[in-house]
Amino acid sequence: MAVSDFKDLLTHVGHKVVVVTYGDPPVNVAVECEDCCEVLVDFDREEPKALKIYDVHFQLNGFIKVEANNEEEARQVVNDIINDRIDNIERVLHTGLKDDDYTTDVIETD
Ligand SMILES: [Zn+2]
Repeated sequence: MAVSDFKDLLTHVGHKVVVVTYGDPPVNVAVECEDCCEVLVDFDREEPKALKIYDVHFQLNGFIKVEANNEEEARQVVNDIINDRIDNIERVLHTGLKDDDYTTDVIETD
């Protein structure tokens, strides 16, 4: 029976108290009173919880203003810019992104 308050522990004053482990490797450690053959406090080893696996989907959005002769050229300019930087992006994100067509909408503004 473990101690749970002042009075419980007070009864062991002057007794031989030891710290022992159970199991090899230890699965429990206890503070015990040898005189009373009583466990004063003990703890079981906590097993690390297995991590869960999640697929987290994401998308990257943004826009770049570019000068071009037409929408196709504007799209190609931006694809080229992203292609130049995709290695750095992949070093951070590890998405496995391989498609080289990154643009979606091309909108003429002026
Ligand atoms: Zn005792």
